Amino acid sequence: MRRKMVAGNWKMNGTRTSVAELIGSLRVEELPSDVDVVVLPSSIHLAQVLSDLQGGTIAVGAQDCSTEPGFGAFTGEESATQLRDLGCAWVLVGHSERRSLFAESDQVVCRKFSSAQVNGLKPILCVGETLEERQLGKTLDAVSQQLNSVLDVVGVDAFESAVVAYEPVWAIGSGLTATPGQAQEVHAAIRAVVAQRNPRIAGGLRILYGGSVKSENAVELFAQADVDGGLIGGASLKANEFGAICRAA
Ligand code: PEP
Repeated sequence: MRRKMVAGNWKMNGTRTSVAELIGSLRVEELPSDVDVVVLPSSIHLAQVLSDLQGGTIAVGAQDCSTEPGFGAFTGEESATQLRDLGCAWVLVGHSERRSLFAESDQVVCRKFSSAQVNGLKPILCVGETLEERQLGKTLDAVSQQLNSVLDVVGVDAFESAVVAYEPVWAIGSGLTATPGQAQEVHAAIRAVVAQRNPRIAGGLRILYGGSVKSENAVELFAQADVDGGLIGGASLKANEFGAICRAA
């Protein structure tokens, strides 16, 4: 039985004041004890959030990490080693905004995954097709390619502690959501790709759905057999909405 997980990607939002308010509101939300809840603030707010959430049940992660694993002359970068040292447990890798706006290739995503994994930071690997790929019937090819490009290099064992997030690019921040059936089809395909290499690891792998998840659509999405929770963008910035999504998991 896979434990459900809900992660909130705050993206480039918030000030110290608004982040403190959001954390304050999250702390009074009733969050289910059988769901792993994670928040992913901007890197400049990580220390503040880690300190404010200390001793609680909400884990903290980063939205990105460097391809470089340790220390060195890489101005502006933050390594998995540093994020782990700070207290982060998770890191997003390959979010579609990083892939499209910052030209991250599958190779770069793979190096970030590897840097995170070897330094004890659990990666949440984001994969997903564009609208064009879906319209051309290439959804499963696109997602498998993104997944296999990492699996080929890091090996399936690295997925023991990782999570995959299926996020159709056309559904992110657009208000459009994959239907529960569309999500289930891709989640099952992702699990099958991993199962070809190791059925046990595939069976335990958590696959989150992301793309305009709200409290109104979360119950049905999370009820699908291969949907193990969600990666939430916009709706994670409202504590009551995020809390409701966590309770739907
Ligand atoms: C995301 O950016 O990971 C995301 C799922 O965003 P939204 O929920 O706003 O579509």
